[in-house]
Amino acid sequence: MIIDAHAHLDFLPEEKLIEIEKDKRIKYAVTNSVNLDSCKKNLEISKKFSKIKFASGLYPEDDLTLKKYGDFEEFVLKNKKEIIAIGEIGIDKTEKLDFEFQKEVFIKQLNLAKKLSFPVIIHTRKAEKEALEILENYKDKLKVLLHCFSGNFKLVKKGVELGFFFSIPANVVRSEHFQKMLEIIPKNKILTETDSPYLSPFPEKKNEPAFISESLKKISEIWKIPEEEVEKQILINFEEFF
Ligand SMILES: [Zn+2]
Repeated sequence: MIIDAHAHLDFLPEEKLIEIEKDKRIKYAVTNSVNLDSCKKNLEISKKFSKIKFASGLYPEDDLTLKKYGDFEEFVLKNKKEIIAIGEIGIDKTEKLDFEFQKEVFIKQLNLAKKLSFPVIIHTRKAEKEALEILENYKDKLKVLLHCFSGNFKLVKKGVELGFFFSIPANVVRSEHFQKMLEIIPKNKILTETDSPYLSPFPEKKNEPAFISESLKKISEIWKIPEEEVEKQILINFEEFF
């Protein structure tokens, strides 16, 4: 059984979405949004395909403004019944947007999630320490999933102490960083993800939820338990988080 806790399915062609819906191995895939346009696309996708769940969020892209945040908040309030999480949100020092403004919009979205009792899906780049400092204030108030977390192991341990969840991408088959994370993080805090169409375990192919079968093999090897046990644990974690 496949659970993809973080993907961008609005970037996949319709035929692929139909394939996902028909694929008996796939149980859930969470499609994440980065701006209002992708929120709207993902909302429509999740209405059409029962396995696809919708996360609504604003990533700190260059052209993000307070006005855009306002439109986003209105969209979330209007469609809250269709939303399962706020994501992907975060702070990112590789984006050109003013870092202080990024933090402001990040905090606004965390507060919105808290108000509506939604979990949050977080991505940070080159700002993992700052992100954890902000998220620490929401400990016990928000369920937090750190997607594709590339902070050092000291920060991974801090995330574990704060009770956060981590989703491990399918390129774990090649990445020593993610393999080591699987040894450090408790089993009940781990989810699987693809970040489709990015981070493919096969360099020549676009990523898709089905490739999580590769992660399951790798996790089973690292955890030293059968794949079915891994699948059961991931399902328990998914249901606990969302
Ligand atoms: Zn993503």
